[in-house]
Amino acid sequence: MKTSVQLRELLNRIDHKGYPAYKDTKGSWQFEGYILSIDHVQGDPFAAPSKVSVQVPGKLAAFPTELYDQKHKRIALQDYLIRQFAKQVQAFTFKAKGSGKSGLLSVSHCGQEILERTACELDKNGSVSVRLEIGFPANGRTINARELCKILFDFLPGCVKKSLYYRSLDAKAVQKNRELAEDQAFIRQELSRLKLAAFVANDSILPRETGVSDRPMKNAVRFHSPKSMEVTLKLPYYGKLTGMGIAQGITLVVGGGYHGKSTLLKALELGVYNHIAGDGREYVITDNSAMKIRAEDGRSIKQVDISMFINNLPNQKDTIHFCTEDASGSTSQAANVIEAMETGSKLLLIDEDTSATNFMIRDELMQRVVHRDSEPITPFIDRVTELFENYGVSTILVAGSSGSYFHKADCIIQMDHYLPKDITDFAKQEAASFPLAEEPASVSEKPNYIRPVKKDLPFCKNDRIKIKTQGKDSILINRETIDLRYVEQLTDSEQLNTLGQLMKYAQLHFFDGTHTLGDAAEYLCQILNQKGISGICSGSYIPGGFALPRKQEIYACLNRYRGLKL
Ligand code: ADP
Ligand code: MG
Repeated sequence: MKTSVQLRELLNRIDHKGYPAYKDTKGSWQFEGYILSIDHVQGDPFAAPSKVSVQVPGKLAAFPTELYDQKHKRIALQDYLIRQFAKQVQAFTFKAKGSGKSGLLSVSHCGQEILERTACELDKNGSVSVRLEIGFPANGRTINARELCKILFDFLPGCVKKSLYYRSLDAKAVQKNRELAEDQAFIRQELSRLKLAAFVANDSILPRETGVSDRPMKNAVRFHSPKSMEVTLKLPYYGKLTGMGIAQGITLVVGGGYHGKSTLLKALELGVYNHIAGDGREYVITDNSAMKIRAEDGRSIKQVDISMFINNLPNQKDTIHFCTEDASGSTSQAANVIEAMETGSKLLLIDEDTSATNFMIRDELMQRVVHRDSEPITPFIDRVTELFENYGVSTILVAGSSGSYFHKADCIIQMDHYLPKDITDFAKQEAASFPLAEEPASVSEKPNYIRPVKKDLPFCKNDRIKIKTQGKDSILINRETIDLRYVEQLTDSEQLNTLGQLMKYAQLHFFDGTHTLGDAAEYLCQILNQKGISGICSGSYIPGGFALPRKQEIYACLNRYRGLKL
């Protein structure tokens, strides 16, 4: 391998030349204690910055194996290392000067959730790879190699040594990070053993600082479980932890406006991810497969069997293979439920704030005036029990304005001044004097999930496929937009970057007319599990900037991709 001395010589030679001469720096260079790989060199100083990675061999990084010998521990350590490395690197961004993006240094920005990212990967031998972007400096379009030397020889070595070697880190903090990961994994296991859909620890902080900041709210009312719902877990490190256990089944969250119902639900939605220490939700853990269900007017629906909820449409439209390019509130929410079931989700999270009323309930007067036979919709309330009893799918539902669900709920929580109260007995008593008017709807057929995808793709194998993502909102594949704004459990734009690559991979490999949409989603998950993101990237190097989505979001993305023909 070439050495850092040779890299310095090369940089001296190309100084003041035209920008393309930077391309010669591509390759791996042995530095003291690590390898620097220049994986991709930007075309000019204004283009997307160059991709660089650093590999510290396991022997030198020297992390004790018990910090990464299991997946959840490895992900937590990787997450910790990115954050440490980012802190170091931040101090040097734009310290080297020049035109355009000259001097930029950047690594993935990690939010409150702990995700598996390509920004940092530990392999079996404990060697650490970190991926970053560097704006190679220029004056105008002329190489300024001295500034790049500053970055590569003065700034970066210190950043690497301070953040990627075990001996330079705070061993106690690293240990704490691992313990939290193990405790969180333990709670996830306990959920299924105790038949819980979710657990919210006492003293958790659920509300966020502002609508645009995910940090914990200061001076928030801390969560405290009602006595009747208390569960005490014995975590391997934290020890005894008490909180509210939400049992599998049907749970209703009621309460006056502004009393914290949606805030609780939001925390449960994100409880499918682990949170960092100090977030306030580190012990809010939800069934991994939980899915937020909402109305999503305007989405496309491809051959979804929504007959459980919608039948006999006036235009005779088939609701077993329901298709539309512009769904209504109720049809979109029905499709969202069925698609969640197809992913194997065992918990639906619904907020009346974002639901279609006619999908959720039909009030008594309406039932008297408009007979069931002339209403295509069987509302969710008529299916919620069936979903649990026949399919094992639980529901946690926020409903402040309609009492109808009192009859169906196994557990009723009232949020009162941000604190939950168990009002199940009282609400059931009251409900007994308001019997439901209608006969229960007849049991529905199991939904048909088999949806073959046609070979008819929006592009050919040899076409250049351009993928762009816009924050957490959408993915653009060539000219096709996949709108993901309402897939609310996507928590990081890097997950969309991965979804974009997955869509491309699926089209090139699975959609040859022999696979169903469900097969494709399952294959994609398998590849991700076995090979990580490198399994789906076609290029010669693994780029940073990718975070893993869940299986549920992979399905959600395929389901919203209008380019697929079914
Ligand atoms: P609801 O859905 O019941 O109408 P929200 O959950 O939207 O109420 O909460 C209303 C407001 O109260 C929000 O601005 C939220 O940030 C704030 N809030 C929620 N929970 C707490 C809490 N535990 N402590 C302080 N403020 C809170
Ligand atoms: Mg609300």
